[in-house]
Amino acid sequence: MALKITEQCINCDVCEPECPNDAISPGELVYVIDPNKCTECVGHFDVPQCQEVCPVECINLNDLFQESKAELLAKYHRLMG
Ligand code: SF4
Ligand code: SF4
Repeated sequence: MALKITEQCINCDVCEPECPNDAISPGELVYVIDPNKCTECVGHFDVPQCQEVCPVECINLNDLFQESKAELLAKYHRLMG
């Protein structure tokens, strides 16, 4: 499952450089996560790095993108080429 950033985001930019997949970018109102690039950090880290650093805990699982661990790992390998 990809993660998503809620409207509680304060645009602090702390999460963007922590993402190993470059999945986070500034959006129109708040930062956004590209679900095609987010692997929940599977392949890189044990826990989602963006959730670890967000000071307002506004990053949640994106229910619209249900993926198993195996699918996330496959996405990781695709992204790594
Ligand atoms: S969970 Fe990991 S891969 Fe997904 S957006 Fe956060 S830092 Fe990036
Ligand atoms: S760390 Fe949290 S508050 Fe800061 S830009 Fe990222 S999602 Fe928004």
